[in-house]
Amino acid sequence: VIRSDAEPYCFFSNEMNDEAQLRLGLEGDLRRALELNELSLYLQPQVDTRGRRVVGFEALLRWFHPTHGNIPPARFIPVAEDSGLILSIGEWVLEQAIIQMAKWRAEGLGEVSMAVNISPVQFQERHLPDKVARMLEVHDVPAAFLELELTESVLMKDAEAAVTLLNRLSDAGIKLAVDDFGTGYSSLAYLKQFRVDKLKLDQSFVRHMDTDFNDRVIARATINLGHSLGLKVIGEGVETRTQFEMLQREGCDVVQGYLFGRPMPVDEATELLRRAGP
Ligand code: C2E
Ligand code: CA
Ligand code: CA
Ligand code: CA
Repeated sequence: VIRSDAEPYCFFSNEMNDEAQLRLGLEGDLRRALELNELSLYLQPQVDTRGRRVVGFEALLRWFHPTHGNIPPARFIPVAEDSGLILSIGEWVLEQAIIQMAKWRAEGLGEVSMAVNISPVQFQERHLPDKVARMLEVHDVPAAFLELELTESVLMKDAEAAVTLLNRLSDAGIKLAVDDFGTGYSSLAYLKQFRVDKLKLDQSFVRHMDTDFNDRVIARATINLGHSLGLKVIGEGVETRTQFEMLQREGCDVVQGYLFGRPMPVDEATELLRRAGP
């Protein structure tokens, strides 16, 4: 293909082809990634602001590609969603997370929660609650230790359907969290109807809360709103001591961020729990 900078249209369309080709390649590779064991879960600790103990982990997907190296989820999750691959990948993530919880329980380290991200595509599956409940049963893990993270936009897209699905998950004893809270279009009227347990204050508000007055106000308002509705609030993306102390002062229940630990391999997370003791 001859690319001429004098022809912007042509240039643009070549770029598009490159992007499309890259995505196609990625999709093929992703299809094989599961079988080839290239995917893994990393776990990031969540810390209670009062006792400063690790009370849970968020499971975050990692893909170590044999030639491209580490491919970030922001890059491959959209490809997985468009191709439908996210259904099998998401199921794998859930099962791995639950298996890990079962291992911890066997070692007496089981009193921590595990948060798993659920894609909008997975959330459209009517069988999701039954599937998750069955996995928990098979591995003998109490449902209350599993927390599913859903974004506001997913819930608001079809709010009526979301209410039904959330009720079924909640009836099964599974905990629910609204991820990236404050960034999407969320209706407070619906928030009341959604049977969720936690709000995750988005990291974009936490990032500048030590310097930006507005972000601090939003953080405070979110924490108060959550508490008024009987929900716990978790602050994410906490990188500095100042951010932590502010969130603590505002009454935020749990925090997560590089200050307390980056997402780490499962073995490291297990070590962390062992060191923390019973
Ligand atoms: P998210 O659910 O909002 O996850 C939080 C992201 O912030 C993670 O990025 C995490 O590594 C990063 N992070 C945590 N603490 C800090 C901090 O202190 N500072 C900064 N700058 N970043 C921090 P990651 O792992 O790259 O994941 C990106 C997104 O990919 C996630 O955003 C989530 O939407 C998606 N994702 C990851 N794993 C899965 C999965 O298993 N399933 C689905 N459906 N989506 C996933
Ligand atoms: Ca999340
Ligand atoms: Ca988030
Ligand atoms: Ca996010």
